[in-house]
Amino acid sequence: MKRLLTIITAGFLCQVSCIQNAWPGETEDDPVRNGIRLSQLSSHPVRSIAYWRQGDQFKVQKTRIGPAPPELIEFMRLDNTFQGYSERPVPAPRDSEFLRDVETAMASLPRAVRRIAERRLFYIALVRDLGGGTGYMDVVAGSDGSAAGGFIILDEGALDRNANAWASWREGSAFQPGADWSIEVRIEAPANDNRVNAIRYILLHEIGHVVDAVIGATQIGGGNTQNIAGNGFYDLSWTYPPPSQEIVVPGDTLRSRFDSAWPDRELLAFYSFNESRYDVADIQPVYQWLRGTNFPTLYAATSSADDFAESFVNYVHVVLDKRPFEIRLRQGGQSEFLLSSCWESPRCADKKATMKRLLLRAEVLQ
Ligand SMILES: [Zn+2]
Repeated sequence: MKRLLTIITAGFLCQVSCIQNAWPGETEDDPVRNGIRLSQLSSHPVRSIAYWRQGDQFKVQKTRIGPAPPELIEFMRLDNTFQGYSERPVPAPRDSEFLRDVETAMASLPRAVRRIAERRLFYIALVRDLGGGTGYMDVVAGSDGSAAGGFIILDEGALDRNANAWASWREGSAFQPGADWSIEVRIEAPANDNRVNAIRYILLHEIGHVVDAVIGATQIGGGNTQNIAGNGFYDLSWTYPPPSQEIVVPGDTLRSRFDSAWPDRELLAFYSFNESRYDVADIQPVYQWLRGTNFPTLYAATSSADDFAESFVNYVHVVLDKRPFEIRLRQGGQSEFLLSSCWESPRCADKKATMKRLLLRAEVLQ
């Protein structure tokens, strides 16, 4: 969740640091960091559909969930070096409670999402010592260079919370910590508040990125960006860059339709904790602003790609699965409402209709 893999970052960070689009064969710029060239990552075999279709090494695992294969470990270590992370990931054990929890989480997804995953999610690789967060996904290119799907990597050691504790931890990470307050996010009823459902929510977010890559809902898909203007999602919340433009002017940033009411949106950074530009005094005003937007969560307001991933997970979680979503601020013995699901509210009506339409799009299921 925290780290965006390099190739995604290439499309993604383009919005903030203007690395050129690094889709294989389209690289105009090939930066080197810590001795690793970006092209070593962008052209790595694990980013090609041929790798995931070869032999039986992945097909034998019916669920396509298991320890990271050697090529993926090599890829992650290269990526860690490129990103400046010191961790050296290793495969998670083949037979573990974590593996069973991930399998349980995947099996519990609604049928519509499992159908997408069967066709577009090539593998869920389990590792230890990932570095940079709990997990991420990367795009896998088809033979024509467009996004065929993706793979997800999860760090066993970083996923040790139950669902509500994990969601609360993530939400609070956007504000400087304080001893006298906490943000409480409820995504599960008490009987379902377990690690499987934390993993489930994280997987849905990452599958949202896979769907985005395939249909080109935002800029994440690289080769698919020509579709952005036509699919109707991007324009609901974002004004800059224009949908047809892949590369942002250096130093420029994404702009949402709601930035005039909160010009500091771009300072919002999850997992920043002590480095956050926001503290407890900002919490109420920030969520008041959020309730006037069509972002279903605060995380969705950080970028167009995470807007899609968060809209996907929250739509599936609340609308399809009928699970709870509510955020409260607890301070000085008081509990104050901050946010609830937006899907029955007029503020998200257009986004709800768009999510429903996009989930039914044939490209995702072919
Ligand atoms: Zn994300």
